[in-house]
Amino acid sequence: TDPGRIRNFCIIAHIDHGKSTLADRMLQLTGVVDPRLMRAQYLDRMDIERERGITIKSQAVRMPWTIREGERAGEQAVLNMIDTPGHVDFTYEVSRSLAACEGAILLVDAAQGIEAQTLANLYLALENDLHIIPVLNKIDLPAAQPEKYAEELAHLIGGDPADCIRVSGKTGEGVPYLLDEIVRQFTPPVGDADAPARAMIFDSVYDVYRGVVTYVRVIDGHISARDRIKMMSTGAVHELLEIGVISPEMVKAEALGVGEVGYLITGVKDVRQSRVGDTVTINNRPATEALGGYKDPKPMVYSGLYPIDGSDYPALRDALDKLKLNDAALTYEPETSGALGFGFRCGFLGLLHLEIIGERLEREFNLDLISTAPNVVYRAIQEDGQEVVVTNPSEYPTGKIAEVYEPTVRATVLTPNDYVGAVMELCQGRRGNLLGMDYLSADRVELRYTLPLAEIIFDFFDQLKSRTKGYASLDYEPTDEQASDLVKVDILLHGEPVDAFSAIVHKDKAYAYGTTIAAKLRNLIPRQQFEVPIQAAIGSRVIARETIRAIRKDVLAKCYGGDISRKRKLLEKQKEGKKRMKMVGRVEVPQEAFIAALSSD
Ligand code: GDP
Ligand code: MG
Repeated sequence: TDPGRIRNFCIIAHIDHGKSTLADRMLQLTGVVDPRLMRAQYLDRMDIERERGITIKSQAVRMPWTIREGERAGEQAVLNMIDTPGHVDFTYEVSRSLAACEGAILLVDAAQGIEAQTLANLYLALENDLHIIPVLNKIDLPAAQPEKYAEELAHLIGGDPADCIRVSGKTGEGVPYLLDEIVRQFTPPVGDADAPARAMIFDSVYDVYRGVVTYVRVIDGHISARDRIKMMSTGAVHELLEIGVISPEMVKAEALGVGEVGYLITGVKDVRQSRVGDTVTINNRPATEALGGYKDPKPMVYSGLYPIDGSDYPALRDALDKLKLNDAALTYEPETSGALGFGFRCGFLGLLHLEIIGERLEREFNLDLISTAPNVVYRAIQEDGQEVVVTNPSEYPTGKIAEVYEPTVRATVLTPNDYVGAVMELCQGRRGNLLGMDYLSADRVELRYTLPLAEIIFDFFDQLKSRTKGYASLDYEPTDEQASDLVKVDILLHGEPVDAFSAIVHKDKAYAYGTTIAAKLRNLIPRQQFEVPIQAAIGSRVIARETIRAIRKDVLAKCYGGDISRKRKLLEKQKEGKKRMKMVGRVEVPQEAFIAALSSD
C-alpha cells in the first residue's frame, strides 16, 4: 500500500466514554464486518472483556474508507484503527499503541465531560506528537450537553469549540463525517522504504492454535512472508510462519511496508519472546538501531495466591504457566505460608491486573483460591548498608533498619468544585502531598497529588467515589519512591506469628491495623481448650491484644453411660473435622477463619 494513503490512528478516552462502541460503528460503516455478524463491542474478544465491558488488550483493525463529502470526495484511504485499553494498569500498552499512530481521536462523553483518564491519555498522545481530533460522543442522550463540553475541550487543547466533532457511537450519527475528517486531518506515515526493516511491537497475544501473534507497525523498510525476523532486544531469530493484516479477522499478506499495521506469527509459544515495545528487524539485513520505548513490565503489586483445597496446587501452577504465556507482566514464585499452605507469590501491574488474573484462574481453570492482602514492593536498607527488596511482608528483615523506601504515584483527581474539600481530606488522610490544583472550567477542578502507592491500593477509589457521589475520577502513574516511617506489624496467635497477616504499614496506622485484624480473628476463631491471646506486635512490642476464652469441648460428655461404639464414632467425627484445621503453634484454626479474615470488608 502507498504510505500516502494510510492513516494510523487510535481512539483515546476515559473508560465508558464509548471507544469500543464507536469502533463498532466504524467497522460497520467501512464494511469490514458483515452486518449479520455484527455484535456490540466487536473488538473486545475476551469473555472477561465482554462481561465487564472493558477493553484489556489493544486491537488493530484495517479498514478501507473513501471520503464521502467535500472537495476531496472520492479519495481512497486505508485506515488502521488501534483500540487501546483505557485503564491505568495498562498505561504502558496504551503508550505503545499511541507510538504506532500519527493521530488520536480524543473521545469525550457529551453527558460527562472531561475525566481523569481523558487527561492522562491526552498527555500521552501529546508526548507522542499525535495530531488530536476532539470528539464529543453520545449526543443522542437527553442529558448530553455538547455546547458546554465543547467549550471545556477547546479550553483544554486550544482551538475553536466548533471544531469538536459531535457523534453518537450508538446511532452512528456524525460517524461518516468523522471518518472523512480522519483522512483529511491526520497525516500519512513517513518512513524510509529502502532502509533495513524496523517494526515496533505494540501488542502480542498467545493463541492456543497459532502460538504467539505479534502486532506490529512497520516504521522503515518492509517485512515479507519469507523473511526470518530478529528481535532487537534479545537478538533472538525466528522463522516467520505467517504475516498479514487484521480486517477484522486475520488476512494473510505477502509483505508489510512503511506505515502498515499487521501481525506476525512465528510459532513461538511464549509472549515473553515477543514483548511490547521491542523492535523487529530482518535477520539477513538487520537494522542497527532499535526504535525507542522498550520497557520491561515491572510488577507494582504483590499478593499470595493459595488454593483452598491444597491438592489443587499443581493445577494452580499449570494455570499460572498458561496465563503467563499471554501476559509478560505476570510474575510468580512458589511460597509457603504457615497459615495457608503451599501457594505462589504473584506480581501484578496493579489492582485491576490482579483482579483479572484472579478471576481468570477461578473461571477458566476452575480453581478456588484465597489471595492475601495485596502489598507493594519495599526497599529496606539495613544499618550495615545491605539492601533487601521485600515483596512479602513476612520476609521483612528483623535486624536494625536504617531506612525503608516505598513506591509513590502521581495521582490526578478531577472533581466538581463542590467536592474539592472531600477529596483533599481523603488524600491528606492517605499521606498525600498536594502538587497543584487547576480549574478546567468554572465548576471542574483538577487536583494533583503525590501519594504512596500502598495508600491507593486499599479502597482509595471506592472512598473517592463515595465521598464525591461518584463524580470524581482518578488516574495515577508510578513515579518514584520515598523514605517513610514504616513498620512491620505481626499478628500472633498464642505467641506464634501468623505469616499471612503480617503487614508493612505507616507507623501512625499500625495501631488501627493491629486492632482491626485482632478483633476479626477473635470473632472467627473458635474457642479452644485453653485461653488464646491474639496480639498485634511491632517487633517485640505488643500494640493490641484480644483474648479467645477457653472452653472445655468434651464431646464424650454427651454420652451418658456405656455405648462404646457411639463414643468411637464421635471421636472419628471429631478427627475428620480436624483435617480442615490448620495448626498455628498449639492453636487449631479452621482455614475458613483465615479466608474470612483476609477477605476485605
Ligand atoms: P469504552 O469503555 O470507552 O470502550 O466504552 P463502551 O463503548 O464500552 O461504551 C460504554 C457504554 O456507553 C456502553 O453501555 C455503551 O452502550 C454506551 N454508549 C457508547 N456510545 C454511546 C452513544 O453514542 N450513545 C449512547 N446513548 N450510549 C453509548
Ligand atoms: Mg472498550
